[in-house]
Amino acid sequence: MKKLEVKSLIKNYGKIPALKGLSFSADGEIFGLVGPNGAGKTTTLNIISGIILPDAGEFFVSEINGIKEKIKAKKLIGYLPEEPFFFDYLTGEETLNFVSSAYKIEWEKDDLLKKWMEDLQLMPYLKNMVGNYSHGMRQKLAIALSIFHNPEVILWDEPFIGLDWPSQEKLKEIMKELKNKGKTLILSTHHLELVEEVCDRAAFILDGKIVWEGEDTEKLKELFYDYLKEEPLGN
Ligand code: ATP
Repeated sequence: MKKLEVKSLIKNYGKIPALKGLSFSADGEIFGLVGPNGAGKTTTLNIISGIILPDAGEFFVSEINGIKEKIKAKKLIGYLPEEPFFFDYLTGEETLNFVSSAYKIEWEKDDLLKKWMEDLQLMPYLKNMVGNYSHGMRQKLAIALSIFHNPEVILWDEPFIGLDWPSQEKLKEIMKELKNKGKTLILSTHHLELVEEVCDRAAFILDGKIVWEGEDTEKLKELFYDYLKEEPLGN
């Protein structure tokens, strides 16, 4: 079984169908999730991260059933949501301490994590209150919080948003290092060039289902053009 197996997810928000039997799997690779606005990407990530439950379907993280053994699965997952939440009156360091205590780990003993935070130029800001952080600094802290517990499957929703160019380049290196450590990265993004550059494979989500999956990530542009022909802008 692969590190992440997502099987036939169905999710309705009231009468709005968000996922209509969505399935994919990924294993020790960087896997892109691409699709137009409202296709179901965030809903998929929210289900895998345990924030919401699907109406039907299931998923497995390192063979652990993410619905039946939610807490166990959650420990193996790292999530960078599109809009991370912070307590603004805590410093970056206090935030890391707070979340680490919930996971019973000591982040400050993790030299690789500290190196990555150094690479992203986050370390000098750890004594500052998060409320005073710039957008990019908040994003860097959220990235650190998505990997500080050494998860097997890492879900990143638009990780490059708000990052300056050197940090974007560093983050690409971090992604490769994570992959080399055997981690599975799921990257949800609208940046197709990025998917072409960093992803091993990608899937195109349309209307709550995966309609294409493959290694030829250049194909994604074609799929978007086809989608626009079917659904002209403004409709
Ligand atoms: P985007 O690229 O714009 O972030 P997305 O692919 O992440 O979109 P989702 O946010 O998963 O898409 O939304 C899928 C569908 O579910 C859309 O029709 C959206 O309007 C609907 N939806 C999402 N969240 C809710 C909610 N909390 N309540 C009602 N409908 C929702």
